[in-house]
Amino acid sequence: MSTVLVIGAGGVSSVCVHKMAQLGDIFTDIHLASRTKSKCDAIAAGVKTREGADINTYEIDAEEVPALVNLIHQIKPSLVVNLALPYQDLPIMDACLETGVHYLDTANYEPKDEAKFEYHWQWAYHNRFKEAGIMALLGSGFDPGVTSVFTMWLRKHKLKTIRQLDILDCNGGDHGQAFATNFNPEINIREVTAPARHWEKKPGENGGWVETPAMQVKTEFDFEAVGPRNAYLMYHEELESLSKFIPELERARFWMTFGDEYIKHLTVLQNVGMTGIEPIKYQGKEIIPLQFLAAVLPKPETLGESTTGNTNIGVIATGEALDGSGEKTFYINNICSHEAAYEETGNQGVSYTTGVPAMIGSAMMLGGTWSGEGVFNMEQMNPDPFMEMLNLHGLPWNVKELDGPVGF
Ligand code: NDP
Repeated sequence: MSTVLVIGAGGVSSVCVHKMAQLGDIFTDIHLASRTKSKCDAIAAGVKTREGADINTYEIDAEEVPALVNLIHQIKPSLVVNLALPYQDLPIMDACLETGVHYLDTANYEPKDEAKFEYHWQWAYHNRFKEAGIMALLGSGFDPGVTSVFTMWLRKHKLKTIRQLDILDCNGGDHGQAFATNFNPEINIREVTAPARHWEKKPGENGGWVETPAMQVKTEFDFEAVGPRNAYLMYHEELESLSKFIPELERARFWMTFGDEYIKHLTVLQNVGMTGIEPIKYQGKEIIPLQFLAAVLPKPETLGESTTGNTNIGVIATGEALDGSGEKTFYINNICSHEAAYEETGNQGVSYTTGVPAMIGSAMMLGGTWSGEGVFNMEQMNPDPFMEMLNLHGLPWNVKELDGPVGF
């Protein structure tokens, strides 16, 4: 019997809880807590209709550690799955330490007053988790998450070393809105307006980050099931863990596609100061412009019904072939249909591609397939059982050899 407590009630949580409910043998008892209980209840009602399973719901502010500790004592879960926002990572990890319960999330910690997402805050918990005999699994979404597992699978089965890595994230979906983000608007806009960074290392040197202005470097790539799209160089958190766990990497980059309409709106919003994260005075009160903007933008979980098209996310890796045949390049990716994701869970594809790996990571931990004491990234785990579950639970992948390294 495995009791799980999921925190957060957005699109990602909704998909994850639906997928957990489909696997009643592993997730025997599912509890869902978030800041707004009515959102938990709406997810529970959807799960009851689609899967026939009962979910218990609670209201919690996950930043209130004593309240969360009480809730964990009450529910006694084997695992806490954090699908709230990156700001809540550390308080939820604190509550897990105090109660001796395993922890999983999909996005690394970010302080509210600085758009800077890095692993060091969470890696600093390693010894405390180890001493408590519990495991934290960081970044079990798609990117980070599946992209890290894809890379490690290639490094296990196809390539002895990886010299160059490009992660390509394309959301080819059309939601019919002039401007909307496909996951939490505040987190999404902080991410895309941050300077781009990629990893470079010359042989024999230590390597480091190369910074370029946000949304300035782009390339056109023809994505299967989507078509040609402009992909922009960005910083993304798995670059930090991949460059740590693949020491031979000479270059690692992350690219995300954006349509011209998205760029146009974002540029205007930036120019007028609406994406700022410094508090300003408005009618005698302090507000943060980006939080106000997020409040008026469409909620990602409401876009499911109108979104059509596919996502196509994958990695292209070049390195020395495992079979000794010289340098080889492989492309491994998943294509996910927004319509199919909506039909199955009532959520669009971006929530689906994140919620499914969160469920799989949870299953890996609860079943003991992935285990450890301390704080771990996806790269440190055996990719094979996770890859198998991707194929079985809605995110099938495909691998092919390319003629040579990417030309961009
Ligand atoms: P949403 O904004 O839709 O949902 C976040 C949920 O967290 C909301 O229900 C919100 O409550 C709740 N929440 C916020 N603050 C607190 C708090 N203090 N205590 C309790 N609950 C709180 O986000 P998404 O579902 O789109 O994304 C969820 C997570 O997944 C994010 O961390 C995001 O960065 C990550 N993500 C990861 C991806 C990956 O591939 N690795 C891709 C996409 C997202 P309320 O309803 O009251 O606002």
